[in-house]
Amino acid sequence: MTKMPSTDEILTKDAHLIQSFANLDALKQADARTAIVGADGVHVIDSEGNRLLDGIGGLWCVNVGHKRREIIDAITEQLETLDYYSTFYNFTHPKAAALAAKVASLAPGNLNRVHFGNSGSVANDSAVRMLHHYFNRLGKPKKKKVLSRHGAYHGSTHLAMAMTTPAYSDGWDTAADGLVHHLMEPCHYHRTDPEMTEAEFLDVLIEDARKAIHDIGPENIACFIAEPIQGAGGVLVAPDGYNKAMRELTAENEIKYIADEVVTAFGRLGAMFASQDVFGMTPDIITTAKGLTSGYQPLSATIIDDEIYEVISEPGAMFLHGMTYSGHPAAAAAALANIEIMEREDIPGRVKTTGKQFETGLKGLIDLDIVGDVRGSHFMIGLEFVRDKATRTPFEADANVGMAVAQHCQKRGLVARALGNSLILSPTLVMTPEQIDVVVGTVGESIRATM
Ligand code: PLP
Repeated sequence: MTKMPSTDEILTKDAHLIQSFANLDALKQADARTAIVGADGVHVIDSEGNRLLDGIGGLWCVNVGHKRREIIDAITEQLETLDYYSTFYNFTHPKAAALAAKVASLAPGNLNRVHFGNSGSVANDSAVRMLHHYFNRLGKPKKKKVLSRHGAYHGSTHLAMAMTTPAYSDGWDTAADGLVHHLMEPCHYHRTDPEMTEAEFLDVLIEDARKAIHDIGPENIACFIAEPIQGAGGVLVAPDGYNKAMRELTAENEIKYIADEVVTAFGRLGAMFASQDVFGMTPDIITTAKGLTSGYQPLSATIIDDEIYEVISEPGAMFLHGMTYSGHPAAAAAALANIEIMEREDIPGRVKTTGKQFETGLKGLIDLDIVGDVRGSHFMIGLEFVRDKATRTPFEADANVGMAVAQHCQKRGLVARALGNSLILSPTLVMTPEQIDVVVGTVGESIRATM
């Protein structure tokens, strides 16, 4: 076994690494960075030897827990059999084929055709590219615009970032400007009228979408992209019935619905896919990544329905799209082993109980002074901190209360994610009830220590 480098050695070399979504200037201070050197089950280990509960599952992704032997063996065995081949042209290989069939069997409705990529961003770009091509083939080349929403996160390639909430590209350009229209953020807590009920807010949201469709013209709109629950925007939950109502509205206008299940699929909300099982609707396309391999290998999937596939595979229709690593054998092997664990251990079923305990425990922290809202479901929870609860007056944007709470959590042995004045928790899905109690207790203590 290779010797683990010291914290100093790691951080000296790390000066060459550009961290993602980070204040690079602040990170020039070496002690602002944390090196994670190992992981095991529901824990990660930092370079100082601290064993920390992984409250964010890597990055909403290590669903079955760290270092599962079955997945490591499946990857190793695959590399020893076929290290790499592409799925370009007429080539395929057994693991990509088996995984496509498996994913199709789990996906709802007629979502039976799967294209692989290597990130959630790419899965979303792929979905839009395919739909543009689909409408070209139908003789509707004007149907190009994308409806997205404020509060959304769809990735950071140029197109995925253009579909993401504009707040995320502050000071950066978006190449696809003009292509994307952002509808209202759907989170009831952020409504402007304090008196407005959730049902009334739902009407406002649907009316906003209806008006946008009318103004832009349905003949110019290709698709609507939406996370079932917005994650990186701050765990923003739409009112009951929203996803279904948007499904109906978009279908009436021949606008394809892309459900971005990069976070919500593979157990996080207690189902393999949340669209149908949790929100009662079947989209035209589902994109997913993260929990597909539990993060053991980079892999994403764009799952399209048979009707779209029929059009883009007609005689004369070349599919001019794909990535070198689409369906990489080792990534496909990891995904198959990961799904096998999920099915054998009925992880989505367990999450219905343990995830509810997690949700209920964290929602119990609403009585603390600075906790304005606790949102989300099962193992996808966000806590928003506010200056004044009664008036929902936020902290200043640069108050970074989330970071202060996250630092207190880390000192107490829990990794949590700061997002401005919010704290996000999205742990592995295999914590015991006792470990869940520890997480809830630690978050509570850390908020009290911050107040
Ligand atoms: N979509 C959602 C809902 C996400 O949360 C993310 C990443 O967090 C992405 C897309 C982008 O995925 P990736 O970072 O793998 O490109």
